[in-house]
Amino acid sequence: MTEIAIAGAGAGAAAAAFVLADAAPDADVTVLEKSGGLCGRAATRRRDDLTYDYGANYLKADDERVVDLVTERLDAEGLVEVAEPVYTFDSDGAVSPGRDADERKWSYRQGLTQIAKRLFVRTDATVHRRTPVETVRRVGDDTARWELVDAAGESWGPFDRLLLNPPAPQTAELLRTAEWASPLRDRLVEAASAVEYRTIWTAVARYLFEVDVPYYGLVNADKEHAVGWISREECKAGHVPDDETLLVVQANDGWSREHYDRDPAANAAALAEHAADIVGDDRLADPAWVDTQGWRYALPESGIDGDAVDAAREAGLHFLGDWVAGEGRLHAAIANGLDVGERVAADL
Ligand SMILES: Cc1cc2nc3c(=O)[nH]c(=O)nc-3n(C[C@H](O)[C@H](O)[C@H](O)COP(=O)(O)OP(=O)(O)OC[C@H]3O[C@@H](n4cnc5c(N)ncnc54)[C@H](O)[C@@H]3O)c2cc1C
Repeated sequence: MTEIAIAGAGAGAAAAAFVLADAAPDADVTVLEKSGGLCGRAATRRRDDLTYDYGANYLKADDERVVDLVTERLDAEGLVEVAEPVYTFDSDGAVSPGRDADERKWSYRQGLTQIAKRLFVRTDATVHRRTPVETVRRVGDDTARWELVDAAGESWGPFDRLLLNPPAPQTAELLRTAEWASPLRDRLVEAASAVEYRTIWTAVARYLFEVDVPYYGLVNADKEHAVGWISREECKAGHVPDDETLLVVQANDGWSREHYDRDPAANAAALAEHAADIVGDDRLADPAWVDTQGWRYALPESGIDGDAVDAAREAGLHFLGDWVAGEGRLHAAIANGLDVGERVAADL
């Protein structure tokens, strides 16, 4: 039997596992995921009776295969579309009607993590959560295979194929410390390290009242404001009780880097003040509660060099995710996972 390992259980990894279940039914797929949940940066939390997507805000209908996947091939029960438009605001906080009123945007009643859950459930892959990969080891010579060691010191493998889904800087670190003496390793470390990321610091704020505005989200068009994005989770069916508001406020890259290690409560208070100013409702400065999250590697600014990806493939090593697609978007990560799943199966 062919043994395949996937490090990371993001949406890209889930899509690859989904393809492999059909295209390589005899392969045994083992997934090691660092965190306690699935779907990585497309992250959902539940608190009290509210559900919110605090990483990726929605899935965009920008890739035919991904649209077909979520609307036809996977269970579409609970898929919810955001009907309200996205408006823009400028550096002074002035709001204007936006540019993408026709763009389709989805989440699920239970949140965006449903995508990875619904993909993995259609596979026989074994997913081990809270199992960070710490060491990658190349074993054998001609028929080289891969072993992984997790943070608890347990060894996994050997595997015939290794798929790496963590964001580029984390993948670069896994390769830098890999027990694999090869010029190819050095080349791959360099290629993955070259992918730069935008940092986003997120505050989620709950209010026990409604706001009366015509938009779902507000994006800072000139990128000069401390806030990059504000959206209303109540526009997603099933997320927020009637008569309430749950704002997701994402700071821009500069603000996020500067405030990353500062007091989360003070950061959240500052972002709530900004939200009140931009939306034009003073009550928003005083949330009932807040939740916070820093995303150091939020969005890749570019993609990894395609030649490096091809060279790794020769060694039975595959990279996958938004940084391989070259676009920091959920649909791009899923589409790349579908491609990589097909490529892995073709090479077996
Ligand atoms: C704040 C924010 C807002 C966003 N907004 C949008 C949006 O509105 N629309 C949109 O389309 N996209 C958005 N995105 C981007 C979107 O979330 C990503 O493009 C997509 O989720 C990336 O999926 P992935 O599979 O490439 O990687 P990830 O989701 O990063 O998955 C990688 C997985 O690897 C795991 N991992 C890391 N290191 C290890 C290790 N050593 N061992 C084991 N596992 C490991 C991680 O825990 C994670 O689960 C946003 C992202 C952020 C952070």
